[in-house]
Amino acid sequence: MDNQNIINHLGENRADYENSVVPPIYQSSIFCFDSVDDLRQNLKRELEVPFYTRGVNPTVTTLRRKIAALEKTEDALIFGSGSGAIAAAVMNSIQAGDHVVCVQKPYSWTGKLLGNYLSKYKVEVSFIDGKSIDNFENAIQPNTKLFYLETPNSVTFELQDLRAVAELAKKKGIRTICDNSYSSPIYQNPSEYGIDIVCHSASKYIGGHSDVVAGILCASSEVVNSIFANEFMTIGSIISPNDAWLLLRGLRTLPMRIKQSHETTVKVIDWLSSHPKVEKINYPFLESFPQLELAKKQMRGCGGLFSMEINANSIEEIETFCNSLNHFLIACSWGGYESLLFPTCALFDSANYNQTALSWKLIRFYIGFEDHQIIIDDFSQAFNKI
Ligand SMILES: *Cc1c(COP(=O)(O)O)cnc(C)c1O
Repeated sequence: MDNQNIINHLGENRADYENSVVPPIYQSSIFCFDSVDDLRQNLKRELEVPFYTRGVNPTVTTLRRKIAALEKTEDALIFGSGSGAIAAAVMNSIQAGDHVVCVQKPYSWTGKLLGNYLSKYKVEVSFIDGKSIDNFENAIQPNTKLFYLETPNSVTFELQDLRAVAELAKKKGIRTICDNSYSSPIYQNPSEYGIDIVCHSASKYIGGHSDVVAGILCASSEVVNSIFANEFMTIGSIISPNDAWLLLRGLRTLPMRIKQSHETTVKVIDWLSSHPKVEKINYPFLESFPQLELAKKQMRGCGGLFSMEINANSIEEIETFCNSLNHFLIACSWGGYESLLFPTCALFDSANYNQTALSWKLIRFYIGFEDHQIIIDDFSQAFNKI
C-alpha cells in the first residue's frame, strides 16, 4: 500500500461510525461488554479490544495502524511524548547491570536517561562516534544489550550506517533502537535495514502544526506486546484521544509538508552556501556533507532542518543576527508550518542543556512554508546587521 493510501484509508472502519469520513474522537476512558464471558474473552486481547483508555482507545488505534504501516513494522504504540516512547523502548531493552552503546550527542533528554538516570540501576553507557562501525564493534562488552542510534541527529546531523549497525547487532544478540524523528517515516525507514525499534517525537513532523506533544514507537508484534504489558501500561505515558485525533489530522498532509519544506530548504541553502558570512552548513543532502553518500543511500529526503556556523566575532553578533531575522521565531522544536531558529549560545549557562561540544557560532534553523525568496531576503538583511 502506498503512503497516501495508508494515510487516507488504513485503519478507518467508517461503517462502525455512521460512515463518517473522519474518525470520531472516542473521548471515553472505559468500554463495556455484553456479558461477563464477553468481558473475560476480550481481556485476553487487551492490545486489540478497547477496555480502558490507558491501554487501547479506538481513535489511538487508527493512528497506531497507520504509523506501523508507514514505518513498515508489524505494530506501533503511541505515547504522550517522544521522550516517553524512547524511555519505554530503552527500559524494555535492558536490565540492571547491562551495558548500552549510544551515539554521541543524542537528543538532550535521551542523553539524560542513558547518561545519568539509568546509573541508579547500574546500567553503564558508552557514548561513541557513530559515524564508524568500528567504534560500535570496539565498544561491545560481554553485557552489552543495546545499541542506541539517532540518524541523523537533530543538531549537526551525523549519520550511522543502519544496515551495518543492525548486522553487527544481530550477530552479537544486541537490540537496536533508532530515533527517526529527523526523517519521519516518509524519508527513512530504519526497520528496512534490520533496526528493531524505531522511535519518533511526533511533536515534530508527524503532528506538524506545533500544537501537540506526542511520541511513537514501532517494532515487531512480539516487542510491542512486551512493551505494552510492561512499560506502556505501568508508566502510563499515554496520548489523549483528542491529541491522537490531531495527529491523524496532521498525518493526512505529512508527505506534502515535508516535501515542501525540503524543496524550500534546498533553495535557501543553495543561496547561503555562497554567502561570505557563512562558514559552515550542516545538512545531510549538501554536496559538501561528509556522509552525503550514506545519506543518499538510506534517506529519501531531508526536510527543513539544518544548522550553520556564521562568521561572527562574538556571541553578541550571533544574537544580533538571530534577533534581526523577521520571519523566524526563536523557539525549540521543528516540523511545523513556521520557520524557527535556535542558537547554541543560548544553552551555555543552562543546567539541563549545556552542550560544550558545540560551537558558539552554531545556529539551528527550521524552514517552514514561507516562500524561499522571503527567507533568503530575510537572511540577507540580517547578515547586513553584523
Ligand atoms: C524533540 C525530540 C525528542 C523528544 O520528543 P518529545 O516529543 O519532545 O518528548 C526526541 N528525539 C529528538 C531527535 C527530538 O528532536
